[in-house]
Amino acid sequence: FYIMTSQGLKFECSSMSEIQMERTFIAIKPDGVQRGLISEILSRFERKGFKLVAIKLVVPSKEFAQKHYHDLKDRPFFNGLCDFLSSGPVLAMVWEGEGVIKYGRKLIGATDPQKSEPGTIRGDLAVVVGRNIIHGSDGPETAKAEIGLWFEPRELVSYTSNEEKWIYG
Ligand code: ADP
Repeated sequence: FYIMTSQGLKFECSSMSEIQMERTFIAIKPDGVQRGLISEILSRFERKGFKLVAIKLVVPSKEFAQKHYHDLKDRPFFNGLCDFLSSGPVLAMVWEGEGVIKYGRKLIGATDPQKSEPGTIRGDLAVVVGRNIIHGSDGPETAKAEIGLWFEPRELVSYTSNEEKWIYG
């Protein structure tokens, strides 16, 4: 079951050891959706043991893309990046698990697919930085802000998966 503490959401499993649960925002960008990579990417997060708590397919407006990437507004590629993110369907998701923010970034790999390790999503499935197929929050603050930007609280589903006792012990 879950308990709310000052540090956030805590999950108590059957052995009563405490696990610090986190949530992160992950999005498959229009290139990943168009290339038919949704199931490939979802399966990597699922098989790891992370839990999907929200998912929807949306075509963001350019204004929305600018909000999502506001930290990059002074970079030369900002305009092209926002045009691209709003050019087609994006699969927006929230994933939950112990350490999911940091480990989600590991599963994704380095920003530039030329520098991503083989075995990572970008390393295995993308070639250039402007078409790197997936986004993942880079820390707890951004995770909170991005989840809030893309989802209404009622779209986040809290549930216990039968596998949790086998994943967390
Ligand atoms: P990440 O997505 O790995 O967190 P950043 O936040 O630095 O990386 O950049 C956001 C996105 O902007 C990247 O995923 C990529 O799509 C795009 N981007 C970053 N650097 C460049 C670049 N030099 N040229 C074109 N696009 C870029």
